[in-house]
This record gives sequence, structure tokens and C-alpha cells, in this order.
Amino acid sequence: MRALWSAEIIAVGSELLTPTRIDTNSLAITDTLNRLGIDVRAKAIVGDRRGDLAAVFRGALARADLVVLCGGLGPTDDDLTRDVVADVLERPLHEDAAITETIRARFARRNLTMPDLNRRQAMVPDGGSVLANVNGTAPGLWIEHADQVVMLLPGPPRELGPMLEGDVRQRLLTRVSGEGLFTRVVRIFGRSESHTEEAVRPFYAPWAAGSPAIEVTILAARGAIDLHLTVRARDQAFASAVLDPAVRQAAAALGDDVYSDTGRAIEQVTGDLLRERGWHLAAAESCTGGLLLSRLTDVPGSSDYVACGIVSYSNQSKVELLGVDPALIDAHGAVSEPVAQAMAAGIRARGGADVGIAITGIAGPGGGTETKPVGTVAIALDTPAGALVRTRRMPGGRDLIREMAVHAALDTLRRLLTGRQVP
Ligand code: ATP
Ligand code: MG
Repeated sequence: MRALWSAEIIAVGSELLTPTRIDTNSLAITDTLNRLGIDVRAKAIVGDRRGDLAAVFRGALARADLVVLCGGLGPTDDDLTRDVVADVLERPLHEDAAITETIRARFARRNLTMPDLNRRQAMVPDGGSVLANVNGTAPGLWIEHADQVVMLLPGPPRELGPMLEGDVRQRLLTRVSGEGLFTRVVRIFGRSESHTEEAVRPFYAPWAAGSPAIEVTILAARGAIDLHLTVRARDQAFASAVLDPAVRQAAAALGDDVYSDTGRAIEQVTGDLLRERGWHLAAAESCTGGLLLSRLTDVPGSSDYVACGIVSYSNQSKVELLGVDPALIDAHGAVSEPVAQAMAAGIRARGGADVGIAITGIAGPGGGTETKPVGTVAIALDTPAGALVRTRRMPGGRDLIREMAVHAALDTLRRLLTGRQVP
């Protein structure tokens, strides 16, 4: 039997095409497949319509070694997956008595009689075999079709999960190359997607020519950039031997803008740096409304370095709670470097902390002016290693501006704690 290298996933269900539901099953399926070295090349979501499903399934079958369909295995009329697959593969359905008995027993355990309708779930296309479902009635199906494999999996995530880790994995293990996909994530803040690409592009050719080849993806997400380096390898040690030097090359080319070469979040990285110094942080937040402290305290163990914080949204609270001189606010405005500095010094002193960090900005949509447009954010630090203040222009709408202000503040602190230049 030929090894399975490529896969396509089809999520079935009209509800997945509404604005309120999202297909999460394909993510779990992709994870299982990737760990076995199977590359997911495409995904689709199809509503409960026979013709549409048949067309999408035919397309996938024309391209991929493995086609995984999930959902639509239930007993009701709108559950079409089994029928459509049987049609397209030209394998008539027959009732599998063993499945009927398993379903009947499942009902019996709950003192119920199995409705006749459920016999539909025991219908198996010729040549198909069962993938056990420990959490539901409909089993999954595994169909070998010449060199290809088609899998039908149940829609409910609590049924799908155990099946993926159980029978799906066991079956696939017999049909894979024995290699998995391994990825390292280098995280970058302070440069654009294209500037990132410019720095690492010289490595693309040598990386692609290596054995195993390294595949590169650059992802821009919420103002930060992630560089993914992926190899196909038989185990983690072998993957690391190839990825480690490549990650070092990328990190050297990207310099101070790299905040993690192991895919860690900025709040974890900066938090660890604070812990190493033995410093405690206090935050004064205006436009971010507590998001900075929320992110920092998302990390377990952050009590090692987080002291306290104040959301000082109004000018009055900046004066009364942080001791900002009202004359500074009158002269420069609440969003200004002198006020940010005074907020950082104020929270540091009043919070009894080593580091004071302050954010004040215009998150919009209103409140912007010609000299201080929406997105203007002043970030200040007050530390034993000195004080620092920067004004940044954040892109996007209110949410992104606030999120980027937090990321920028944590990244500024990271740079200060590691003795790097702060642009
Ligand atoms: P059932 O026997 O429950 O009908 P089924 O295999 O027919 O199972 P569906 O009817 O398609 O599955 O889906 C059942 C439920 O599972 C859906 O209401 C939805 O909550 C969830 N579900 C289905 N597909 C997905 C998906 N791709 N991602 C996340 N959840 C899903
Ligand atoms: Mg259903």
C-alpha cells in the first residue's frame, strides 16, 4: 500500500455556514494528520445538500491521498455524508449487523429501545470498516479506495476527539511514511511582514534545498509577525538538528525584533525577564483599560513579578490616584509623553514596585486631532535602570490599537530588560 502524504478535509453541515458557528473539527483533524506527517492541502465546508457535497467530495478525491469528511453521520434525513460517499465511490450500502447491535446495546444501557431510524447509522459502504465511537452512536468509517483512503467522522467534537486519538491514529499509522511535521515559531514585533520577509529571504533557497527541506511561512497576526519553519522528520531530535541552526540564522537576521524563537507569547517572555531580575511591576493604564495587566496575569505564576495596577481613565484619576501634576495635563494633554512619564513614576512609587509602566493613548473612533490622530499612544517606563518614553502610532480600529499598545508596552519593557535599543 502506498503511504498517505496529502489530505483534504470536508466539514459537512449547513449550520457551519451560518455567521454564528465555526468549524473547529478540521483543526483537531489537521493536528492529528500533521503529527503523522500528512500534509493538509485544502479544507472545505459544505452545507447539507447532496449535489454540493458530491461535487466537493469528487474534487478532493481527484487531488488528495486521504479525504476526511466530518459531520452528517447522524440518523436524520439531513445527514447525507454516508449516502453521498457511497454514491460517488459506487459502493452500495449494506447494513452491518454488528454496528446495529452496538447501537442497540447503547440505547439498552439507558433503558431505551433503539428507534428504527438509527439503523441508518449502521449502513456501511461495501469495503468500509468501522472506527469505534466511544462517545456516541454513529461509528466512523474507513474506506480504502484503490490507493486512497476516505474517512467519515462524526460531527460532535466530543465524539470526534477520542476517535482521532484512538482508531483514526491507529489506522493511519499503518499508512504513513513514519515521519511527522515539526514546526518552530519565531515571533517578531516592531517590523512589518515585508521587512521580515526581506531579512529572511536570502535563506529561502538554502533552506528549501536542504534535506529535509525547510518550509517557511510568514504570518501577520494582530500587529505581531510569526515566522514558521517546518520540516518533515522522523522525530523531534532529528527535526531540531535541522531547525535549530535555521532558527539561529533567522533570529540573527531579525536582530532585536525577535522576542521569542520558541513561539512564546510576549507576556511570558517579558514576565520571565522580570522574574530573573527579581523586579515587580505596577501598571497605570488609560486607553488599554487593564488589558496589559490582564495579559500579564494570564500567565500562571505571574504573582512572582506583578505587583498591582490602576486603570486611570479620567484626568482626575491620573491626578488623584497617580499624583500626576494637573499642570502637565493642561500643558501637554492627557495623551503625551510628559503625562505618560508622570503616570509611570506615580504608579511605581504608589504601587511600591520596581518597574512602573504606563500607557495613555487615543483608541478612537473619536478623540483624534491633527497632531494626535486616533492610534497615538504614549508608553512610559520608570525603572531602576532608568526612565523611558515613546510615542507610537498604532494602526487599525479601537480593538487593534488597544491590543498593539499592550504588545508594544511589553515589548518595550523586554528591550529595556535585555539592554537592547528601543526604537
Ligand atoms: P449527530 O449524530 O449528532 O447528528 P453528526 O455526525 O451527524 O452527528 P452533525 O449533525 O453534522 O454530526 O453535527 C452535530 C453537532 O456537532 C453540530 O451541531 C455541531 O455542534 C457539531 N459539529 C459538527 N461539525 C462540526 C465542526 N466541523 N466543527 C465543530 N463542531 C461541529
Ligand atoms: Mg447530524
